[in-house]
Amino acid sequence: MKEQDYLDHLVGVFGHPVAENPGVVIQEAAFRELALRNWRFLTIDVAPGRLGDAMLGLKAMNFRGINCTIPHKIEVLTYLDKLSPAAALIGAVNTVINDEGVLTGDNTDGKGFMIALEGAHVDPRGKRVVVLGSGGAARAICVELALAGARHITIVNIPKDLALGRGLVDTLAQKTKVEVDYVSWEGTYRMPEDADILVNATPIGLYPNVDDKPDIDYDSIGKSVYVQDVIPNPAFTPFLREAESRSLKWQSGMQMLINQAALNITMWTGLKPDKEVMRRAFVGAIS
Ligand code: NDP
Repeated sequence: MKEQDYLDHLVGVFGHPVAENPGVVIQEAAFRELALRNWRFLTIDVAPGRLGDAMLGLKAMNFRGINCTIPHKIEVLTYLDKLSPAAALIGAVNTVINDEGVLTGDNTDGKGFMIALEGAHVDPRGKRVVVLGSGGAARAICVELALAGARHITIVNIPKDLALGRGLVDTLAQKTKVEVDYVSWEGTYRMPEDADILVNATPIGLYPNVDDKPDIDYDSIGKSVYVQDVIPNPAFTPFLREAESRSLKWQSGMQMLINQAALNITMWTGLKPDKEVMRRAFVGAIS
């Protein structure tokens, strides 16, 4: 007789807008491959101001967890029982785990970035890193880099975001051992000569603005600098084209995205998904 277990195990993403979030494609490809027959990833538009209701619903329906994306990554902290040390330092949560009503927040954006670096055989210990942007992705990346022993982080930021950038500088200076400085991004940015790693942590180049690139002097990038983009779609941005044309080592944000999605699955199910299956599903969804 066939097993009769129709109970759904629910996870998903809360965001607004969220319709173009490809999480469902990546996660459900992994569920199929892991033979997690009754697991569902739901893409849920939660309007600003309704996150509290959504979190109650999550508990009532016994979701195993949820991803939070713009604009809920910070407000969600209000509804959690526990925080991972990195999420506490970052001040933002993109993954919630529900252990029978006890909600723990974590942040896998920076961890996905670190695994991507490792995959590219780049060790940030003792390195000088330049990070463009100071939003959620930049915060997560800077905190993980600092915890991993980067020597110096330069945050390059548009003047409109002065408070955001300064807040990040203060967090890093007060809570970690990294040296940190802040550059107001006015006009074309020139890279410091001793930089080892350059990260674009802004949305510049993200679909549909696929021809945009950060305003930096690409000829000022040193010959041995490793270049990392956070943009997962398209996988090959104009920023990365500049790196490629100068024979620099680079990686797109796609692997970072897959890594963090894989971490989410492990946190929710305890299983390790096949990242290649997830990557193929993502490429299929965006091409
Ligand atoms: P945020 O809105 O929190 O931060 C973006 C930062 O970039 C802000 O400081 C923003 O300033 C700045 N910025 C925006 N436009 C420009 C511009 N034209 N010139 C200079 N700076 C600019 O977004 P997130 O940090 O959450 O996300 C950033 C990008 O990272 C997104 O494209 C997202 O898709 C990607 N991402 C990728 C992940 C992955 O796994 N690959 C994971 C998480 C994010 P302002 O607020 O003033 O506009």
